[in-house]
Amino acid sequence: MNMPSWQRAVLKVGSALIAPDNAGTSSKYLLAIARFIIECRERGQEIVLVSSGSAAAGRKHIRFESDPVPATIKKAMAAVGQSDMMANWTRFFDFPCAQVLMTHGDLRDRARYVSVRNTIKTLLDNGVLPIVNENDALATDDMKVGDNDNLAAMVATVVDADALFICSDIDGLFNADPRVNPDAKKIPLVSQIDESIFALAGDTTNAIATGGMRTKIEAAEKATSHGIDTYIVNGRKGNTFEQLLRGENPGTLFQCQQDPMSNKKHWLRHTLVAQGELVVDAEAAQQLLQGEALEAMGIIDVHGSFNRGDAVMIRQPNQAAAVAKGISRYSSHELLYLKEQKLCELAASFGHEPSNDVVDSNDLTILEDL
Ligand code: GLU
Repeated sequence: MNMPSWQRAVLKVGSALIAPDNAGTSSKYLLAIARFIIECRERGQEIVLVSSGSAAAGRKHIRFESDPVPATIKKAMAAVGQSDMMANWTRFFDFPCAQVLMTHGDLRDRARYVSVRNTIKTLLDNGVLPIVNENDALATDDMKVGDNDNLAAMVATVVDADALFICSDIDGLFNADPRVNPDAKKIPLVSQIDESIFALAGDTTNAIATGGMRTKIEAAEKATSHGIDTYIVNGRKGNTFEQLLRGENPGTLFQCQQDPMSNKKHWLRHTLVAQGELVVDAEAAQQLLQGEALEAMGIIDVHGSFNRGDAVMIRQPNQAAAVAKGISRYSSHELLYLKEQKLCELAASFGHEPSNDVVDSNDLTILEDL
């Protein structure tokens, strides 16, 4: 199967390829990947590398034998291993590499998101290879993306990539677990990601890496909804990269959606974490579906504690699935105080422009699975 052509891609390489034997970094699998990066750049295609492996590389420097590795120890491993991981890549290249470390906190804040985007784009414009990882040495759980599959998808949307390659240690997505079922067949093309696709994901098997097939499918869902073709390929096989260079599909291609979401809606849906919930009546829910704003009078209840500008889920009473996700102009305290009262009249006392809209129609994304 021939692949669609691309101009800018994010290539995700996991710990199992960078530090395969739990004994620090290794070039065993990286040479073929590095040659692929060099060849793409020579063809004028841009690559952003998302590389895991800091904690796995740092493992040999910090004595700790048993699993699971406690968070403090893992952070120290990541801090020392990050420079090993960078050095392991840079020795393959004649062009400069830049280390870009980020957390989910940088992506959920719109201003920092734009700053990440500008920095990576400037690096690309100057022929530098950006090598991105989560800032594992410092990030706390509430600030983390948590796995580099999802991080790579977020980076792909930030930089407007048109392809995402996720290098795994198996050939792609299978219709059964190929490690236990010899009849398992690889699925070359997924045109729609739904629950039946997620059901094919196995569990994480590597103690130091965080991603499994599920996080790869999540990443594919994020990227394809932003118009980015996503591939899961076997990074252990040199032939994978030769096939990619020939325009063939060596793994599983998750085809991008034809009507991708705007950057802002995508960020709202896939990056912002909802801090609370607004329960609304049927009329308000209907208005949301028609693309209208959420007005205060439609709110029946307010759950959770959130600030102005935080994301909230919006749902009808007794329905588990949310109708929409949006950015609230008011904090939960303000909304609770305002309930049953005329928002417009009281808004000024909170320093707002008088408005009955709690969520602007531009700050809303409708969740299809109603
Ligand atoms: N950021 C982690 C690391 O570099 C890897 C996360 C993952 O395995 O997905 O070690």
